[in-house]
Amino acid sequence: MARYTGAVCRLCRREGQKLFLKGDRCYTDKCAVERRSYAPGMHGNARNKKLSEYGIQMREKQKVKRYYGMLESQFADYFEMANKKAGMTGENLLTILETRLDNVVYRLGFAMSRPEARQLVRHGHFTVNGKKVNIPSYLVKTGDVIELKEGSRSLDKFKGALEANASRVVPKWLEMDKNNVAKVVAEPAREDIDLPIEEHLIVELYSK
Ligand code: SF4
Repeated sequence: MARYTGAVCRLCRREGQKLFLKGDRCYTDKCAVERRSYAPGMHGNARNKKLSEYGIQMREKQKVKRYYGMLESQFADYFEMANKKAGMTGENLLTILETRLDNVVYRLGFAMSRPEARQLVRHGHFTVNGKKVNIPSYLVKTGDVIELKEGSRSLDKFKGALEANASRVVPKWLEMDKNNVAKVVAEPAREDIDLPIEEHLIVELYSK
């Protein structure tokens, strides 16, 4: 599946907020949003125009795409999936995005950022229900068991990440035991998703 391969800090600057795409660096004063809190490009510093309603909705969509790391067509597919589900489309959309395997790996603390989690999944470090899954967009469901594959368990990078992320709160729809074996115990609820997203703006955008 295609993904954005440009400089990720530009994406944060474009959205005017941290999207936490670079791991450790995002928490230091080297963060590009901390250093240059204006949009990238030649006129970024000068640009301060008021966004139209459409512009606001569009920016919200772009922000969510960038949080979860996907391009337009894949995002549109997720929206379609959310629209077909019973319940609120915006909440359904976020729920679906949260259950992507790369996001789950990030939420569990195996990676410092979602882009890193995506790469780790691609490299085949994780199993779901005992089978290797190297598809970052794989959607987990209640009852699924996620763990590092046997050959990856002793790798220093995972020990380091789990230690560094020890204070990160694992959302309550996921459980991880002392052997770092995780289980999906529920569908994520809206209140479990701690990102500053106004999903109704995205629903309004697609309703036009
Ligand atoms: Fe975004 Fe992290 Fe880069 Fe800061 S360091 S601009 S939060 S990706």
